[in-house]
Amino acid sequence: MSAKSPTGPIDSHCHLQYFEPGEEARVLDEAREAGVTGFLVPAVRLEDCDRLLALAAREADVWCALGVHPHEAKSWNEGDERRLAELVREPQVVAVGECGLDFHYDLSPREVQSRVMRAQWEVARDAGLPVIVHNRESNVEMRAAVKDPAFDGLSGVLHSYAGGPKLAQAALERGFYLGISGMVTFPKADNVREVLSATPPGRLLVETDTPYLAPVPHRGKKNRPAWVVDVAKRLADELGLGYEELCGITGENFRELFLPTDG
Ligand SMILES: [Zn+2]
Repeated sequence: MSAKSPTGPIDSHCHLQYFEPGEEARVLDEAREAGVTGFLVPAVRLEDCDRLLALAAREADVWCALGVHPHEAKSWNEGDERRLAELVREPQVVAVGECGLDFHYDLSPREVQSRVMRAQWEVARDAGLPVIVHNRESNVEMRAAVKDPAFDGLSGVLHSYAGGPKLAQAALERGFYLGISGMVTFPKADNVREVLSATPPGRLLVETDTPYLAPVPHRGKKNRPAWVVDVAKRLADELGLGYEELCGITGENFRELFLPTDG
C-alpha cells in the first residue's frame, strides 16, 4: 500500500497522449505513488478526443480538456466548432483547450491562430466551461483577447505562464488563473518567478506540461506527472509557504476552476 498524502499536488496540465498506453498507465501510477492527487489532460487536436475521453472515463482522478492547440490551428475546419461544442458536453470534460496563440513557432498563420482561439473561447463561454490557454510571444494579442468584453464571464488558465506582469495583471483582473510549470525551477527563468509576488496564491495552479519542461533536477528528460511534486515544492519555497499548504491552496483553486459542481 502506498502512503498517499491527501494534500499532494494536482497536475493541471499533462499531455498523457504522448505516451504509449502501457507507459501512460505506468506514469500515472508512479505519480500517485509520489502523492499526486489528480491529472488534467488537454488535447492538442480533435483527433485526441476519443483517447482522452476514454482515459478520463476510466480513471477517477483524470479529467480532460478538448480543443485545438495553436500549432494545429491550420487544421481547423468548417464544422469543427459544432463538433467541439458537442464533444465538450461529456461529463469528463472540464475545460476547452488547449487553445491559444504561439507567435514563437508560428506553425499556423497568426490570423488563423486568433480566429481558431476565439472560436474555441466562444464554445467554452456558451458551454459554461473554462479555457486552457497557451501563449508564447503573443502577449499583446492575448491581452486584447483577455480584455475583450465578448468574453465577459469566461474563466480559464494561462498555462505554463511566462507572459510577464502586464498580461498577468489583465488575466487576473478578468478572473483567470496562472499555471506554474517546471520553468519556475529553471535558474534563468526570473521572468516566471517575477509575477509571483503580484499574484494571489488563490489564483495559481501547478502543472508539468508533460512531456515538455521537465523541472530541475530532471531537466532534459521526458517530463512526467510525478514531477509536479518538484514544481509544487519550488513554488511553495518561492511563496514562503509549506509544501502541503501550497498543495492545499492550488488543489482548492483547481476544484474551483474546473470542478465547480463537485460537492
Ligand atoms: Zn500543453
